[in-house]
Amino acid sequence: MDYEKFFSTAVADLKEEGRYRVFADLERKAGQFPSATHYSDKGNRPVTVWCSNDYLGMGQNPKVIAAMHEALDKCGAGAGGTRNISGNNHYHVLLERELADWHHKEAALLFTSGYVSNWAALSTLAGKLPNCVVLSDSMNHASMIEGIRHSKAEKIIFKHNDAADLEARLKEIDPARPKIIAFESVYSMDGDVAPIEAFCDLADKYNAITYLDEVHAVGLYGPRGGGIADRDNLCHRLDVIEGTLGKAVGVVGGYITATASLVDFIRSYASGFIFTTSLPPAVAAGALASIQHLKQSSFERSRHQDRASETRRQLKEAGLPVQHSDTHIVPVMVGDPVLCRQITDTLMTRYGIYVQPINYPTVPKGTERLRLTPSPVHSDEDIAYLTRALKEIWQELNLRIAA
Ligand SMILES: *Cc1c(COP(=O)(O)O)cnc(C)c1O
Repeated sequence: MDYEKFFSTAVADLKEEGRYRVFADLERKAGQFPSATHYSDKGNRPVTVWCSNDYLGMGQNPKVIAAMHEALDKCGAGAGGTRNISGNNHYHVLLERELADWHHKEAALLFTSGYVSNWAALSTLAGKLPNCVVLSDSMNHASMIEGIRHSKAEKIIFKHNDAADLEARLKEIDPARPKIIAFESVYSMDGDVAPIEAFCDLADKYNAITYLDEVHAVGLYGPRGGGIADRDNLCHRLDVIEGTLGKAVGVVGGYITATASLVDFIRSYASGFIFTTSLPPAVAAGALASIQHLKQSSFERSRHQDRASETRRQLKEAGLPVQHSDTHIVPVMVGDPVLCRQITDTLMTRYGIYVQPINYPTVPKGTERLRLTPSPVHSDEDIAYLTRALKEIWQELNLRIAA
């Protein structure tokens, strides 16, 4: 086996298909977001970031930064161990209490990322419940898919956001078997929302448990920012609500919330929780400050929605192919990976606008797109400038513009 040749051929295949990933070398500027410095061999220059998942700019919130400084000075850099062996810092305990309250649940459990929380919780639940079947939405995130795969449980994929299809599949499963319905609230690429209540009704009818990923909704929806289930008063109907501390919360980490017994079960059996160093205390302190702020301030949420609709409005008015979305995600459809990359390269080099192209396997082939994430700190001028840049590129490349 020529190993090196194998590796380089596999990568060359991606380049051939136009979906080789190139990371933008950025330095975010606290206090100046969405502005960042882009480092390249052609020199360093300021760019405006239009694709960040720091949806509310909480990554530069002064309260969050102050809390992290304080905890860093007080506790030092790392947690010093796993939760079980010396790494259970008081900030973890406070943060878990806060998270449980945020989602109206009895308990919460922290993980090192949202990916790990989905992977560990789903693989443990589906792997340990005897003869379990997982019903998984066809658009579920890679972290859920991998967790389910690792559980070795039977998996049935139902049509995206389709309660009728889910019921048809539930009907065929032996009523005695344990069942998990796994889905997301806001889907991050199209910005559409699951029929949560209908899925909960089915879960009741067929005695299944529900597992909801609210990663793209926590901090952003509901009177206290608890997510879509919070907004729709459905928290009590979901068995597990999973979220991240890395997106709207602006820091890093993941978690689940559920009943005390379910959380204790995952805490006690999930390898991806047990055998890894816990989050640095400063990270937990930052997330705690961020959530405490977002619970009592709706300013960021309403400004966020306002910026998203203004962006959508201006792009539509310019005739650009904005896909409808019920949430804060603004997808501009391109439908070709090479073109997508060409557009984003031009945005970066000519206009100083940073948007990462979204290609397969993040989205299905033929639906390649620009995924814009307006935030409270994008100004009217930023939106107008982005719209003008896109319109010029669309015209130059002879792409379709609506009349
Ligand atoms: C980003 C994402 C995750 C993973 O969260 P991280 O904290 O970034 O690891 C999980 N689920 C969905 C739907 C996501 O988009």
